[in-house]
Amino acid sequence: MPRCGAWHHSGMSRPLLNPRLAGLGTTIFAEMSELAAATGSVNLGQGFPDTDGPAEIARAAADAIMAGRGNQYPPGAGVPELRRAIAGHQRRFYDLDIDPDTEVLVTAGATEAVAAALLAFVSPGDEVIAFEPYYDSYAACIAMAGGVRVPITLRAPGFRPDLSALRAAVTDRTRLILLNSPHNPTGSVFTRTELTAIANLARQHDLLVISDEVYEHMVFNGEHVPIASLPGMRERTVSISSAAKTFSFTGWKIGWVTGTPDLVTAVRTVKQFLTFVNGGPFQYAVAQALALPDEYYATIAADLKIKRDLMCEGLAAAGFEVYPPEGTYFIMTDVRAFGQVSGLEFARALPGAVGVVAIPSEVFYDNADAGRFGVRFAFCKRKEVLAEALARLSRLRAG
Ligand code: PMP
Ligand code: GLN
Repeated sequence: MPRCGAWHHSGMSRPLLNPRLAGLGTTIFAEMSELAAATGSVNLGQGFPDTDGPAEIARAAADAIMAGRGNQYPPGAGVPELRRAIAGHQRRFYDLDIDPDTEVLVTAGATEAVAAALLAFVSPGDEVIAFEPYYDSYAACIAMAGGVRVPITLRAPGFRPDLSALRAAVTDRTRLILLNSPHNPTGSVFTRTELTAIANLARQHDLLVISDEVYEHMVFNGEHVPIASLPGMRERTVSISSAAKTFSFTGWKIGWVTGTPDLVTAVRTVKQFLTFVNGGPFQYAVAQALALPDEYYATIAADLKIKRDLMCEGLAAAGFEVYPPEGTYFIMTDVRAFGQVSGLEFARALPGAVGVVAIPSEVFYDNADAGRFGVRFAFCKRKEVLAEALARLSRLRAG
């Protein structure tokens, strides 16, 4: 990743930062949100909704605090109400049978789940295969574990997983495949056929799979297939999701892990020394949220699909090459029509030029060339905000 900046010496003879983390720098999301605030730009950078989730769920969190539920350390695996609700969700949507007592772990967002799972399973020198562009915490956490990233590049326009490249990437050092579908930032949703091929490979080489499914309810084309639901995969898959996206409460940081007792126990061993426990009162509220009726879940994707279409059309009209996402609330574009500037230069200039913030795709790649001209826009914003952003972007001149 081309980011740097956290390599301070502070007058000491040795570099301050653990060399494993060299070059990771500050996460781009915080930087771009600060830039948006400082310039009064429409922030389509960091992926967070500009509308909170259901009021009744916010009320449930407030009620839990006032009723003294979860204000002291909750149980290590999460409160039983939430563990049962997570198991119920897996059964309702995927027909997966999860034991809430031994096969669920509540975490501080999906971020901690990914970190704890990687630290639990990866030893120094182990190879971790992941599909780039990838969510920025993946590279950082693989590095913290001392693992070696083995990127498989998803390429525009379709961003399909290259299965022969994947097969060729497996070595006897490969420990696991880190999967994310629906995929941030490309919006690609892996098909059942693609996931079956990945599953076959994992079984054949005795690999674990960490499957980050935080956008599971945001699919417009195709279907979300949890890889754990494929034959022989339950025993080797750690599935991860979160309340952040599904319920639009990104600040609550309630995520979860499901898997066999052995897998969950391993992740819990790490989690207990990272945060021990988290978000007591919010856990009760998320338990209630998970029980919302099917219509709630259907509305998430239906609403986002309208916004996706609005953005695809508006960005294309403004001169961007647009790669319509099949899922998530992100849209990838190519900015070469605006002159041969890189996505990084384009995104840095955009707030000053027209007052919009976006994320340069380059930061999601190891192989930076593959993402050189990409820019990602988030569309989890109110329609009038998206319309304003598009109006501003239409003032750009494609050359
Ligand atoms: N994984 C992916 C792919 C994401 O986009 C995000 C978004 N923040 C996360 C994990 C982290 O989720 P959380 O906010 O629940 O930690
Ligand atoms: N997942 C969100 C994104 O990809 C942001 C999360 C964060 O800021 N770490 O934009």
